[in-house]
Formats: sequence, structure tokens, C-alpha cells
Amino acid sequence: MKVNIDDYRGVWVFIEQKEEQLLDVGLELLAAGRDLADKLDVELCGVLLGDGVSHLTKEVFESGADKVYLIDNPVLKYYRTETYMKAVGDLVRKFKPEIFLYGATSNGKDLASAVATDVLCGLTADTTLMDVDVEKRLFEASRPAFGGNIMATILCKKHRPQMATVRPKVIKRLPLQAGRTGEVIVEEIDVKEDDLQTKVLKIVKDAKKAVNLEEATVIVAAGKGIKDEKGFAMVKELADILNATVGASRDVVEAGICGHDHQVGQTGATVTPKVYIAIGISGAIQHIVGMQNSELIVAINNDKEAPIFNAAHYGVVGDAFTIVPMLTEAFKEALSDKVAQEEVTTNG
Ligand SMILES: Cc1cc2nc3c(=O)[nH]c(=O)nc-3n(C[C@H](O)[C@H](O)[C@H](O)COP(=O)(O)OP(=O)(O)OC[C@H]3O[C@@H](n4cnc5c(N)ncnc54)[C@H](O)[C@@H]3O)c2cc1C
Repeated sequence: MKVNIDDYRGVWVFIEQKEEQLLDVGLELLAAGRDLADKLDVELCGVLLGDGVSHLTKEVFESGADKVYLIDNPVLKYYRTETYMKAVGDLVRKFKPEIFLYGATSNGKDLASAVATDVLCGLTADTTLMDVDVEKRLFEASRPAFGGNIMATILCKKHRPQMATVRPKVIKRLPLQAGRTGEVIVEEIDVKEDDLQTKVLKIVKDAKKAVNLEEATVIVAAGKGIKDEKGFAMVKELADILNATVGASRDVVEAGICGHDHQVGQTGATVTPKVYIAIGISGAIQHIVGMQNSELIVAINNDKEAPIFNAAHYGVVGDAFTIVPMLTEAFKEALSDKVAQEEVTTNG
């Protein structure tokens, strides 16, 4: 189907919610969307679907949106491809956005690909960088390609909207602007529960993830330089002292030293801790894309030419098997001194 791309204007973000709670990723994407919308001089709009979710629009406006398209209907209580694709597809056909961003969550990825087939447009998955050619109004969605050896910038010249999924934590949220408001456009979905083929019979919650890298404030990560389980235990000891979460490179996971839930990088978690300590990690691009937004990066590696030092704020060149136990001892001492001092202060 030929579309007149000049009819399409505005930047949209899918605002994902679960059990009437907003997921951070939608609010993070509003920061990227705000930048794109300002450059194109158009509105930034959130798309919010659910049942009993209208109160969530407040935070969407305070996070940067100018407008929210809201469909509040019991058939949208739980995510189902059938209903969400119909709702979003109809909104796209009616209001014609030029750019549409989704979080690369399980539901976000499912929805974006379903909408792309419904409205016949392209989709760039797992975008890590976004910009726009203002003159041509072309969205530039960049992502690692060819095993992460290059960054490919993907354009969609002939179809609209230009769509992308973006992983959680890749973009920083804008600070909340209390009291900021906007326009709510309330729309309907022309579907009844009886017409639907997919029924939600029961929600079974996943056991809590054992390792939650995305939420960690301090991560101590092990690379292949730690050699084996003994080296990993040494890294874990340092992590325990710092009350940190243990991360790992893919090579460590593939060697069976720890589980995939520890993996940081392109095919693992994207993390943004306050401190990231990389031990015996070379700094392959596929690892860097997962941790480069950490506030402070410390690298320990015995090769002074290792690429990890280009991403690090502080680097220690040396043998991890000497340095890590020294660090663990030093932190143990410093922290026990701190506890002792606090006890003296409390006891007068
Ligand atoms: C499609 C694709 C997706 C990928 N996804 C990911 C991903 O999500 N995450 C990821 O991490 N990788 C990923 N990779 C793999 C990635 O390319 C690298 O192979 C991997 O990150 C390397 O892991 P490493 O740094 O632990 O090992 P190495 O590259 O082997 O580096 C080991 C480092 O340890 C140092 N070292 C050795 N001994 C010591 C010592 N005693 N003390 C101090 N330092 C020492 C060495 O100098 C070296 O720099 C992916 C690859 C592909 C193709």
C-alpha cells in the first residue's frame, strides 16, 4: 500500500503498563522522543492502553509528553497481541505518527512487530542510538550489526511510521516536571470480549529473578581473565563486601562458570549502576553496549591495551588474582572501621 509520507507527523511512544503500574521503559523513551520531537518541531505523544489506567496520564505528561492517546477498556486489561495490535493499528491509521518508539520488553517487541505487519511499515529492533535528519524527516535508528562489529544506522524512507524498539535502561529518564500537563485524546476499541480468540484464564507469576542486574547500584563483573570457578568466587567475595551484584561477560557464561542471568551486554542485560567494576574483561563492543552508561567504570586488566580501558573512568593494569583480593581486604577493613566509628558515635 502506497502511503503519502507527508501526511504523517508527530513522535509517539508506547507507554507500557502492567497491573496499572507504568514500566520505566516507556518513560525513558519519552526522553528520546522529546529530543526527536523538538528537532522536528512536532508533538510528543504517549499511547496508553489498559483498563482503569487513565490516572497514569499524569506521570506521562510530567515525563515530557504533550498528548496522550488513551484507550481504557476491559478488553485491554491484559496484554494480548490481538487486542493491542488492533487498538494501536487503528490509532496509527487515524492519527498518522511519523516516528513510533516501543520498549524492547517481551510485550513491546511482540506489539511493535505485530503493528508493523498490520500497518505495513518497517521496524528496527534493539536500537541503541537515535537521531533524526530534520531536513528529510528521516529517523536514524542505530544498532550493533554483524555480530556487533559495526553500528548500522537503519532508515525507513518509503513507509510510515518509522518504528523502533529500544531496550530498557539505554536512555535516562527526564527529571519529572511536577504539574506539567497536556491533552488526553480518549479513543475507543471496537472489540468485544466474546469476539476474541485469546482468553486470559489465569496469571501465573514468574519466580523472582535470582539476579537483578538492571536494578543494581553496584556491579562487580567477571570476564574470561578470571579463568574459572575459583576466580569467579574471588570476584563474588569482592561483590559481597560491596553489597554488589555479580555480572559477567558472555565468555564466562558460555564457559559454564555462571548462569546467563549474570550476563551483561548485547545478548544479556543493559545496566546503569553507579559503579561498574570490570575484572578481566577485554571490552568487546557487545559487552560495552550493555554497560557503557554506568556512572563510574573501573577496569582491572593485565593488558594495558585492552579496549575496556577506553570505556573506563579508572583503570588498574595488573593481575586480577593479586589486585582483587587486595581490594576485598581494603574494603573489608574500611567498612569495618566505618561500622566501628558508627558504633562509637551511637554509644556516645
Ligand atoms: C552476536 C554476539 C553477541 C554477543 N553478546 C555478548 C554479550 O551480551 N556480552 C558479552 O560480554 N559478550 C558478548 N559477545 C562476545 C564478545 O564478542 C566477547 O567475545 C566477550 O565479551 C569476551 O569476553 P571477555 O572479555 O570475558 O573475554 P576475553 O575477550 O577473552 O578477555 C579476557 C580479558 O582478560 C584479561 N586477562 C587475562 N588474564 C588476566 C588476569 N590474570 N588479570 C587481569 N586480566 C586478565 C585479558 O587481557 C583480556 O583482556 C557477543 C558476541 C556476538 C558475536
